[in-house]
Amino acid sequence: MLTHPLKLLRQYFGYSQFRDGQPELISAIISGRDALGIMPTGAGKSLCFQIPALMARGVVIVISPLISLMKDQVESLRQAGLPAAFINSTLTVNEYRSIESEALKGTYKLIYVAPERLENPSFLKILNEIRVSMVTIDEAHCVSQWGHDFRPSYLKIAEMISMFKKKPVVSAFTATATPLVKEDIVKLLKLDDPVTVVTGFDRKNLYFEVDRPADKCEFMLDYLRKNSGKSGIIYCITRKLVESVHEKLKNAGIESVRYHAGLPMKERKAAQEKFIYDQAGVIVATNAFGMGIDKSNVRFVLHYNMPKNIESYYQEAGRAGRDGEKSECVLLFSGSDIIMNKFLIENSDRDKDAAGAPRTDKTNELRKLSQMIEYCSTGSCLRSYVLKYFGEKPGECGCGNCGNCISTGSLADMTVQAAKVLSCVKHMGERFGSSFTAEVLRGENFERASEYGFDAIPSYGALKEFSAPAIKDLISSMAASGYLTIDESVYRTISLSEKGAAALENEETIMIKHNKGKPEKKRAAAKQPAKPTSAENAGDMRLFDILKALRRELADKQRVPPYLIFSDAALNGMCSLLPSTAEEFLEVSGVGQNKLRRYGKIFMAEIEKFVKSKK
Ligand code: ADP
Ligand code: ZN
Repeated sequence: MLTHPLKLLRQYFGYSQFRDGQPELISAIISGRDALGIMPTGAGKSLCFQIPALMARGVVIVISPLISLMKDQVESLRQAGLPAAFINSTLTVNEYRSIESEALKGTYKLIYVAPERLENPSFLKILNEIRVSMVTIDEAHCVSQWGHDFRPSYLKIAEMISMFKKKPVVSAFTATATPLVKEDIVKLLKLDDPVTVVTGFDRKNLYFEVDRPADKCEFMLDYLRKNSGKSGIIYCITRKLVESVHEKLKNAGIESVRYHAGLPMKERKAAQEKFIYDQAGVIVATNAFGMGIDKSNVRFVLHYNMPKNIESYYQEAGRAGRDGEKSECVLLFSGSDIIMNKFLIENSDRDKDAAGAPRTDKTNELRKLSQMIEYCSTGSCLRSYVLKYFGEKPGECGCGNCGNCISTGSLADMTVQAAKVLSCVKHMGERFGSSFTAEVLRGENFERASEYGFDAIPSYGALKEFSAPAIKDLISSMAASGYLTIDESVYRTISLSEKGAAALENEETIMIKHNKGKPEKKRAAAKQPAKPTSAENAGDMRLFDILKALRRELADKQRVPPYLIFSDAALNGMCSLLPSTAEEFLEVSGVGQNKLRRYGKIFMAEIEKFVKSKK
């Protein structure tokens, strides 16, 4: 009889229930169906193939594009007591031989390989000698040229699978959900009528905030002081900025490491390791950092600059809180971010795109940039903005867990200015985007304006005293408040909504949530702490720190990243449950049998010591 998946979830991983999408995918796989799981980062895709691996006879081959991740993934399984191995170019000949012979003996439940390995005849020979119950393709979007990380060797996977005498189950996982990529995955990996599960893209544990501080550096230092001891990433748009921010932190006595493509490989690697092993709390980096980072206890991602589009932002910010614990994503926005991004788009060399990858045109990139700017300028729910961007339909009332939902920045009476904008948009025939509208309102670009006769409309120059970005912000806020409609085409044409037309006609009072550009107010929002973690609920941060230190000590001895021993979530669980028996220790989410055996005594001893000291 097969062991029930839920029992294995408890026994090996120490979790009490499945998350969204996991049960459907696991049942499909164990019934022998092909499967496709499209779930956001941190949703728990790995368990969807790891649990079936435990249940099947034979081995699951996991194809994963990132050599740097394989070691951690395998180590994480070993910590849970699951026999697994990886095969890639970092192995010595002897290591390879030993893994090969163990594989032939049937020691492993899972073997991770890079896609290129499938082109290696001796590896294919081994595959034919061992019983392969399933082939799992992780980061399956790599097979598609429409995705962002196309890997030609992914195209060979289907062919390799077709060589098995008995076709194994094929399962594929990704966080990229665009229809073209999804179609490619099914077609190019030759999935056979797969059970497909797409879960929502919301990351509930992440708090989103946009700030427009007068002094970014001062804001950042303040933020870091408030979040000291936590692990976080600071993203900067250029290498030069990484250097200067890193320097500023050093001068302020805040320890950090830096990472960008201009540094020697060795230095980059060392910085990354220090961060992953919790030896450095903060890493300052360009977007070159992050691929292949599975660190689960990143508590904040601070963007020093606005990234070029929402996809990049959500991916980078999404590196926070993989363990499901509360984490923050804060973006510092300024007008110069727009200029820098435009410059990068205008000057990017299209021909340098990955071989064969589709060339995205600049108009498209500029359109995406304008949506990113809109995210930074909106006065309404940030999470809803992102979810809508990805084609989801969030609730109407806001999320209650983003800067704009929580912010005290109240509605302001903007009747005078807003009426001018409405009038201007109307007189311009509702045919133009925000840049030209702002120019007309500022009384600029006379040549073009007079060509259309806009120099003669009442609103020409009516908002002279406002800067162009401020007017664009106002336009975004008016759109967010439902007075204007911005169409989704390339041109992002602005028109009056019904509400806007009525307001103009009836000279109504127009209240707009328009708190951008007022750093003091936003600062107040930033100070509002994220909801307390359970360790804080337990009334003491100190036990968490003690357990964290113990975790690090054990991790250093084994030379593995600390979060593989226990996640922050598990440590928080210990702080609130204060377990003193094996049964109680197992109650902690993330503690399975193997971790109880390996670490139960030593952690419970620390907890007991702490509890006694409090009496
Ligand atoms: P993904 O690959 O989708 O980004 P992972 O598989 O790495 O996500 O899982 C993210 C985190 O969530 C891991 O720490 C994992 O142990 C945890 N996790 C997965 N499934 C569950 C579950 N059912 N209950 C609690 N935690 C889970
Ligand atoms: Zn919100």
